[in-house]
Formats: sequence, structure tokens, C-alpha cells
Amino acid sequence: NIDLIKEFRDPELCKGLLETLDRELDDELRFMEVCGTHTVAIFQSGLRSLLPDKVVHLSGPGCPVCVTHESEVNAFLDLAEHDDVIIATFGDLMRVPGHGGRNLKAAQADGASVSVIYSPFDALKLAAENPDKTVVFLGVGFETTAPTIAATMVMARKQGLKNFMVLPFHKTVPTALGALLDDASTRIDGFILPGHVSTVIGMEPYEFIATDYDRSAVITGFEPADILKSLVDMVRWRNEGTAKVTNNYRRAVADTGNAKAREVLYSVFEPCDALWRGIGLIPGSGLKIRDEWTDMDAIVKYGIEITEVPPLPGCRCGDVLKGVITPDQCPLFKKVCTPAKPVGPCMVSTEGSCAAYYKYKVD
Ligand code: SF4
Repeated sequence: NIDLIKEFRDPELCKGLLETLDRELDDELRFMEVCGTHTVAIFQSGLRSLLPDKVVHLSGPGCPVCVTHESEVNAFLDLAEHDDVIIATFGDLMRVPGHGGRNLKAAQADGASVSVIYSPFDALKLAAENPDKTVVFLGVGFETTAPTIAATMVMARKQGLKNFMVLPFHKTVPTALGALLDDASTRIDGFILPGHVSTVIGMEPYEFIATDYDRSAVITGFEPADILKSLVDMVRWRNEGTAKVTNNYRRAVADTGNAKAREVLYSVFEPCDALWRGIGLIPGSGLKIRDEWTDMDAIVKYGIEITEVPPLPGCRCGDVLKGVITPDQCPLFKKVCTPAKPVGPCMVSTEGSCAAYYKYKVD
């Protein structure tokens, strides 16, 4: 409903919220938005330059491409070398650099079978059309995409497809937020929580942020008034000496999330440890394929091992994702690293923090 959206962009409403924020905020507020769509929304709406100086905006690890670990990208590239494999992937992974700066686009140019698809279900069609090959879908993303990929696997089994597999590198958001709050190199006073992930998981998995860390976190929509209202709420709770986790995006997100999506997700996947680019190993923050679905697990079939590898030389994506620095504080930003020639993944994805700074930030 476009009229509903218009209300959340109302200039007078936003001006009032900005004034409230400025008036009620005593100390610095370092808030992190955890979703790439919020990163872009904050810049696109002009909010970034309108926020009071006391509000420090940090972009978190919410862009799936950005947090995909170097060793996971290396696994994509190694798999692309197999003659009997067709890699099926969303387009945003094509330019993410792995070993030696090489990416899937270069592998494709060198003759590897890499197919860009728009839905995991397209990978099933690809598998049916290529019975002499194995189609491996690159499973990257958060709780938002994992249920669809699980549903695709269920459908592949129903269709009797024997040549469809998934390389499972999904990650879960709440666990990563706990790791960031434990990290002494950064300070985060509150979180603007992702809308899309929260439609699946609801509010409960974030409750620990208030109970264990005394920080607030608000599930938030993507319009300027949504974001400002959540910031005002966080400031007020802090002034009252309390912390809360709430849902300010009830027009799209149910407090309890989507039970059906979680059911299909956890029928196929189960929690595991995962490596995050720039952050390292976070226990319990990944999703691996359950034993009952091993026949579709590319990690098992191709004996893939994921281990720590050195980060890309000079790239500070890790510090950007943790909120230690802003992208423009990276020495390579705009000089060596640009969207046309990205050094790190945060400059590759349109939702990456570095790409958003490059596109929208006025010096
Ligand atoms: Fe990495 Fe480029 Fe961002 Fe620097 S500007 S952190 S090199 S992606």
C-alpha cells in the first residue's frame, strides 16, 4: 500500500523525530544496523547526514555476500574446476574475491560451468536438463533464504532428482550479534534489527541482547520514520536505565516469526559452527545439512574442508563488519577499492557497507 509507505516518509514526522532524538540524547549513541537493506535505506533517504553528531551509525554483518568467508569462496572456486559440476548461484556471488583475488566470473570466463539463477528452484530445472552433470547450488545467506533452499531440497527429493546438491554456508544472525557484543574491539549501544530475517525468526532469538547484555534492539522497517522511531525508543530506554527488545515493524513481521518457514528450515538444516569473514569462528552460527539429507550435501560428496585462511591483503572488511571502522576509514577505500574493481566483498554487493558509502556518502 503506497499510501501507508508515504506516511513513513513524511518529512514533518521525520523532522520531529530527529528533533526528539537530538533533544533527548545526552551521550553518544553507537547504533548498528544489521541488514544491508537498512544500510542502503539510511543513505538513500538522506538520514545519514541528518542524524545528530552524537549518533554514530555502524553497519553490521548483515550482507550475506560480505560475511561469506574467504575459504568458502575458495571452495566455490575449487568446485567450479570439476568438469562434471554446474555451479548454480545468485549473481551477487560472482565477483566476490577468493584466493589470489580470483572470483567465479573469472572461473566462468575460463570455461567453468557457472550459471546465474534467480531462484533456487531454477537450479532444479537446470539439474533436470543436465542429467549427466551435478548441479551444486551455493547456499549463502541468513535465515531469510535458508527456508527456500530447504524447500528446494524437499522438492528435489520429491522429484527424484539425484544430481542436485547444495553447498551449505548459511549463517544465523542472532549468534553473530552476541559475538559482536563480546568483542572488546568494538562498542555497540543498540541494534536496528533486520526486517527480513525477523519475518522468519521473530523476536525471541534476540531477547538475550537485553537480558544478558543490557542493550536494546528493535526490529525495524526500512522507511526513514521507521528507523528514527527505533532510535528514539532506544535512547528513551537508555535514559530510563533499561534495555528492551521489541518489534517496531509489525506491519510485516509477526512477533513469533514464521513457524512454517522455521519448520522446513530445521527439517533439513541444523546449527553448526561457522567462519565469518573478518570475524572468524562463531560457535553455533552456521547451518549444516542434517544426516538424513547427506545425499544432497556437496561438502560431504566433494570432501570440502573450511579452515581459516589469511584475509585479503589490505582489506579491512572484518573491521567494517564489526563496526570498528567505517568504510571511509579503510586506506584502500575509493583509492584502490571501488565497485568497478572491488578488493573486498563489502565493495562487491550493492548492499555492502563499502559500496553504500561509495555510492551515497558525500565527503
Ligand atoms: Fe575491503 Fe574495499 Fe571495504 Fe576497504 S574499502 S574494507 S578494501 S571492501
